[in-house]
Amino acid sequence: RAKLQQRAGHFYFSRSMGVEIRERVRMMHALRTAFGQDQLFVVYQPQIDLVTRRPMGAEALLRWQTPDGKFISPDRFIPIAEYSGLIIDLGEWVMRTAMRELVALRAAGHDNFMMSINVSQVQFRHPYFLEMLRSALEDTKAPPEFVELEITESMAMEEPDLLIKMLGQIKQTGVSIAIDDFGTGFSSLSYLQRLQIDRLKIDRAFVTEITGSARGSSIAEMVIQLGRNLGLAVIAEGVEDERQAMILQTLGCPLAQGFLFARPMTAPVLASWLNDDALQGAA
Ligand code: C2E
Ligand code: MG
Ligand code: MG
Ligand code: MG
Repeated sequence: RAKLQQRAGHFYFSRSMGVEIRERVRMMHALRTAFGQDQLFVVYQPQIDLVTRRPMGAEALLRWQTPDGKFISPDRFIPIAEYSGLIIDLGEWVMRTAMRELVALRAAGHDNFMMSINVSQVQFRHPYFLEMLRSALEDTKAPPEFVELEITESMAMEEPDLLIKMLGQIKQTGVSIAIDDFGTGFSSLSYLQRLQIDRLKIDRAFVTEITGSARGSSIAEMVIQLGRNLGLAVIAEGVEDERQAMILQTLGCPLAQGFLFARPMTAPVLASWLNDDALQGAA
C-alpha cells in the first residue's frame, strides 16, 4: 500500500513538473518573440539624495508588455531569459539602451546623472561579458564614470576568486559596481573587503522592516554602518513612505529609491520629470 502511494505520489510529481516545464518553454518562446517585436522596453526609476531630495541617478528596469496589454514581471521572465540564454542578447540590449539614455540626458544638461544597470549572473559569467561591456561603452559613448552595474549579493557569494578577478577587470573600464539586494545573502566582512565594489543597495525587505518593530531597523542600520566602515556608498531601495525616508536619513543613509519619490518611468517621462525637478530647484 505504501508502495502504491509512493508510486502515485511520484506520478503526480512528474506530471506537475511536466506542466511547469511546458509553461516555461511556452514563455521562453513568447519572450523570444516579444524581444523581436519590441514588446520589451526599459523604464528608469530615479535615485534620490535623502537630504536635498534631488535626483542623482536612475536604475534601468526591463518591462515586458504583451500585445493584449498585460505586463509580465521581470521576476518571472528574467529567470526564463537566464535559463534559455536569451539574457545574453537581452542584457546587452538593456545595457546599450540605458547607456544611450544616459548620453541623451547628459545632452539635455543632466551632466552628473548616474545610470545603474542590472547584470544577471549568466551575463556576468559569459566569456565575452567584458568585451560586450567595453564595446557598449565605446559605441554609445557613455562616460563609464556615470555607469554603475548592479550584481546581486547571492551572485557575489559564488566562486569568490573568479568574482574578485572579474570585478577588477570591470573596474578598469571605469564603471562602478553595486551589490543589489544587499543583506539577503551572507557575505562576510572580510570577503566584502576583498571585492572592488562601490556601493551597497539595502534590500527593500529591510527598508520595509524599519517601521515594523523596535529592532526592525537593525539590518538597515548595520548595512549603513558597514558602508561607512568600508568606505562604500549606500542606497536604500523600496522606500514607500515618509517615515522610512526619515529614519533612513537619521541613520545616515545618503540615497534612496522607491515609490515615495518616483515610480519607474519611460525615457521621455523621465526626461520631463527631471526638467520639472530642475525648474523647481531653481525656483
Ligand atoms: P531590483 O534590481 O532589486 O529592482 C528593484 C525592484 O523594486 C524593481 O522591481 C522596482 O520596480 C521595485 N521597486 C522600486 N521601488 C519600490 C517600492 O517603493 N516598493 C516596491 N514594492 N517595489 C519597488 P521590478 O522592476 O519588477 O524588477 C524586479 C527585479 O527584476 C529587479 O530587482 C531585478 O533583479 C530584475 N530585473 C529588472 N530589470 C532587469 C534587467 O534589465 N536585467 C536583469 N538582469 N534583471 C532585471
Ligand atoms: Mg537592481
Ligand atoms: Mg534590489
Ligand atoms: Mg530585487
